[in-house]
Amino acid sequence: MSVSQSMPLGGDCPRVAVIGGGVIGLGIGWRLARAGCPVTVFDRDEAGHSASWAAGGMLAAGVEAEPGEEVLWNLASRSQHLWPDFRYALQADSGRDIGYRDEGTMVVALTRDDLEQLRFNYEFQRSLGIELEWLSSTEARRREPYLNTGTAAAYFCKGDHQVDNRQVVEALKKALAKAGGVLRERAEAAVELAGGRVAGVRIGDEVHKADVVVVAAGAWSRGVGGLPEEVRPPVRPVRGQLLYLRMNPAEPLVRHVIWAPKAYIIPRKDGRLLIGATTEERGFDTRPTAGGVFSLLEGCWRAFPGIEELVLEEIVVGFRPGSRDDAPILGPTSVEGLVMATGHHRNGILLLPVTVEAISRFILKGKVMPEIEAYRPDRFRKPAGGGP
Ligand SMILES: Cc1cc2nc3c(=O)[nH]c(=O)nc-3n(C[C@H](O)[C@H](O)[C@H](O)COP(=O)(O)OP(=O)(O)OC[C@H]3O[C@@H](n4cnc5c(N)ncnc54)[C@H](O)[C@@H]3O)c2cc1C
Repeated sequence: MSVSQSMPLGGDCPRVAVIGGGVIGLGIGWRLARAGCPVTVFDRDEAGHSASWAAGGMLAAGVEAEPGEEVLWNLASRSQHLWPDFRYALQADSGRDIGYRDEGTMVVALTRDDLEQLRFNYEFQRSLGIELEWLSSTEARRREPYLNTGTAAAYFCKGDHQVDNRQVVEALKKALAKAGGVLRERAEAAVELAGGRVAGVRIGDEVHKADVVVVAAGAWSRGVGGLPEEVRPPVRPVRGQLLYLRMNPAEPLVRHVIWAPKAYIIPRKDGRLLIGATTEERGFDTRPTAGGVFSLLEGCWRAFPGIEELVLEEIVVGFRPGSRDDAPILGPTSVEGLVMATGHHRNGILLLPVTVEAISRFILKGKVMPEIEAYRPDRFRKPAGGGP
């Protein structure tokens, strides 16, 4: 075990600099400031306005579980269980609501082909112990009266909830400030090293000293300045387009989070209806496309033909931080004092509580929680002597 993995870092309350002010960086900053650490979170832009702003806010550990991702499902499921306490603490510290909704999530099949897929997913997810309820077409339409009359069948996952991720961002900023943490926006930060360990971060000509630097720069994490080549996280942008429509909140067209075959659909308390999301490998191109918007509208329209009447309010483009194995990158690196909290891909809102707990516990106690062992940054390193 290297020094960086067994230390209490810089005493009980090390000085911490966090690079990146999305939900992950803000959340870690908040928790450490609460524990009494001097913390500064740096964002090169407006904090929280990248992937964390573009997201759908689903806490969908259940219906997103896929074969081959059983280990990741354990982490997602643990985080899902942490969400209620995380929510109450965040709301109490910030004095803000975060739009948590617990109506549950419905997965629907519209055709016979969809039905085969639906049955397969239902059986697989139940085999993991996820509580699901099979719904006939009639029962599905009783719960969602505007669902397409041709709906074949559905299943319901009462444990998959949602938050309003934009409200989470605002609450985290407030909670960080109230706990004594500092947020510096429009401050692009690079890692500053001295004597083989971190010395702080560099913002232009200024060096901000810190005992611990956390890289939480989302899809940009690989390009953070000053990172030695061997610890650069293999993270790339996985582009997603998402739409905001406007419903009548008194008579909402959609009542639960819905997973339709070609789009997911998320109703917010205030009447906004989100339709997401495309998955594209297009680098950091911020321009929405006709094809992306068309496929989302069509996917939603097949499930809810009534969306034709709704106003289209916003088209969002965001960049999921996708790692080489699509799993997060969490914990200490071989550089003393340098910690990674990135690569959360399509689940960064869901994985927020477990990430905050694991990273802050490591920084405060020097212990890597067993839950994040499988996600250590060094798992991508080639074995000594040259592997394949
Ligand atoms: C369309 C879409 C839908 C999604 N839906 C969901 C969902 O329903 N549920 C879910 O759990 N997840 C969802 N996700 C994934 C989730 O949004 C991300 O995993 C999560 O927001 C990542 O948070 P982050 O803080 O790591 O990154 P970001 O929110 O991208 O924040 C990174 C920040 O780092 C800053 N930065 C970069 N470089 C530097 C630097 N050198 N110095 C200072 N600052 C820097 C950036 O300005 C940015 O603000 C979705 C993502 C997208 C795109």
